[in-house]
Amino acid sequence: MAGDAASCIFCCRMCGCQLFSDRDVTHGKSNGQTKDGVAACTSIFVTEAPAWFWTPENSSENAGKIVCPTAKCAKKLGHWSWSGLQCSCTAWIAPAFQFVRSHVDAKPSDPVTPVTNARGVGPTSTTGF
Ligand SMILES: [Zn+2]
Ligand SMILES: [Zn+2]
Repeated sequence: MAGDAASCIFCCRMCGCQLFSDRDVTHGKSNGQTKDGVAACTSIFVTEAPAWFWTPENSSENAGKIVCPTAKCAKKLGHWSWSGLQCSCTAWIAPAFQFVRSHVDAKPSDPVTPVTNARGVGPTSTTGF
């Protein structure tokens, strides 16, 4: 598996702009992870608010909504709160920067690089006499 690099970038589903990376996720990364009687995480929480998030308005607030940084889009993507928010799986995250999973798309961080390895070139066991 990949190492420490971000394996994917989360983008706005409406306009496709990049929002945060895999490395920023503190909770809710794995979808469909259900335990008995516990709902899956329908939200993704990031450790810190992305740089684009901070506006003069946000800086003076303690909680609010997160909207897409693209002015034309301005899709409401989630909520944030210094005092914390609860995930659908009942986990309490604080401070919380919560993105609704259905509003973001996870895309590979690297451009698609088809791996065309040349296996089968080196004869390894030809002298089996
Ligand atoms: Zn957008
Ligand atoms: Zn959760």
